[in-house]
Amino acid sequence: MITCEYIYCRTSFADTHSTCPRCGFPRDKSQLQDTAFLKEVKGLPTTIIDMHQILPAVDNVLEFQLKVMEQFGIEKALLQSVPPPVTSIWGNDKLRGLAQTHSERFWISQFVDPRMPDITNILHQIADMGIKVIKLIPPTGYSPDEPQYDDFWATLQERNLVAMLHTGFITARHKKEEARAGVFLHSRYANPLFLDLPARKFPNLTFILCHIGGSLWYEEAAEMVTLHDNVWGDISGSGIFALQRLLNVGATFDWTKVFWGNDSPPWAYPFNLRLLLAALSQASAEDKLPLLLYDNAQRFSKKFLS
Ligand SMILES: [Zn+2]
Ligand SMILES: [Zn+2]
Repeated sequence: MITCEYIYCRTSFADTHSTCPRCGFPRDKSQLQDTAFLKEVKGLPTTIIDMHQILPAVDNVLEFQLKVMEQFGIEKALLQSVPPPVTSIWGNDKLRGLAQTHSERFWISQFVDPRMPDITNILHQIADMGIKVIKLIPPTGYSPDEPQYDDFWATLQERNLVAMLHTGFITARHKKEEARAGVFLHSRYANPLFLDLPARKFPNLTFILCHIGGSLWYEEAAEMVTLHDNVWGDISGSGIFALQRLLNVGATFDWTKVFWGNDSPPWAYPFNLRLLLAALSQASAEDKLPLLLYDNAQRFSKKFLS
């Protein structure tokens, strides 16, 4: 037996297979650059909206992304920005450039930190540019429910900016990068419950809990999404583990306020989509597929992103 090397899969399978039987990840990784190999996935709706995607800073990434979107009928993708010390993924400036040239295929977000000097003006500038989504990463070291951030949330609410926050254990793969930047990530602040108080104080501010708490805080995220009108969730990346667990425990969850995202390099679309299909079919929950891949995102985008 061998173990699938894809981080969101890790299924064990017999070494007679050349690709993972669950997600299709190849043992020969050169195939990841071959768009013919990354072919269609059976059982998908004809159109998909991706609500959480990143663009790795590698050659021709935009062409690759557009090609794969074409292949899978992905109408539009919401691109996530990253903190300035991160250079391996497209950040604020590059995404703003892309919004000028490809606004029909992408929505963009801008990364900010509520502790930045002059943050109120920064938010007004972003809103004035017509950008609708703010990306926040509390594990960089702040607790979003402290009263000192109330003005920050109030400005987002006033300008109809959506707050998209990482929730769930944060990757521990970048210790060297963290040391270089002098900022160590802290998963403690990625618990969705840190947004409970802001969601109550700012009922007209819309939050998206990225990865719906991952494999640790999926029940907290489910409560937040279900009980707060103004809280939505995405099942991108480690959100697949949250989805599997919520289906397993039969948790109460508002399935009309959650959507899917790839949150990986463009070559990962087929693997993430197959993992989603496998998780739903294992739980006999295939009826949720159109909600997760299209309907909910479309409703959300009409209301908050246009
Ligand atoms: Zn796999
Ligand atoms: Zn995240």
